[in-house]
Amino acid sequence: MDKLTIDNFKEMLRNALVCVTERSDEFSKLDAVLGDGDHGTAIVQSMSALVATADKGTEFKSMLNDMSFSLMLEISGSTSTLLGGFFLGMSDHAAGTELDAAGVKAMFAGGLAGVRKQTKAQQGDKTMMDALIPAVGAIQACDSADVKAILAAGAEAALKGAEATVDMKANFGRARNYGERSIGYADSGASSWSCMFDAFAKAL
Ligand SMILES: [Mg+2]
Repeated sequence: MDKLTIDNFKEMLRNALVCVTERSDEFSKLDAVLGDGDHGTAIVQSMSALVATADKGTEFKSMLNDMSFSLMLEISGSTSTLLGGFFLGMSDHAAGTELDAAGVKAMFAGGLAGVRKQTKAQQGDKTMMDALIPAVGAIQACDSADVKAILAAGAEAALKGAEATVDMKANFGRARNYGERSIGYADSGASSWSCMFDAFAKAL
């Protein structure tokens, strides 16, 4: 497919909600290794809010902007803040009702820039950035003009990135205090963001 329409994008979000809901217990259990065990609930609540706002959207820029602001107003916590930054960053680099391959790449690059405004975590710190940074990198590097192929490349890189967090020691935020205990488990946020990218690709 050479264009991503706004309806395609809404379908991607709805599929992401289905995916994170199915795996919600797994995300909470992973979060409980290093934190408070609420990540499954937080990601499902956040994706639900995003889908509800997106359903009213008629144009990429305003829809993405509205999604971000209503999410951050409705739900507090880091999951909401990071997803809010992602969709707000996307809104800075998307407009109209359909995007071509270059437009999709620019939108996802904007999403990563938006998340970077909310966290200083780097790749290797065992956070959702370990899924997001490779996913956006693979999206940029994909030389296909097929939007589905571009998103599939992002999903594959996100999955590999999330799997790589199993062997990492937490190096960011409160999770740092757990040191060696964090090794052997995937990061909950990297897992849920990789689930989201996988659902994006499979929705098309
Ligand atoms: Mg938590």
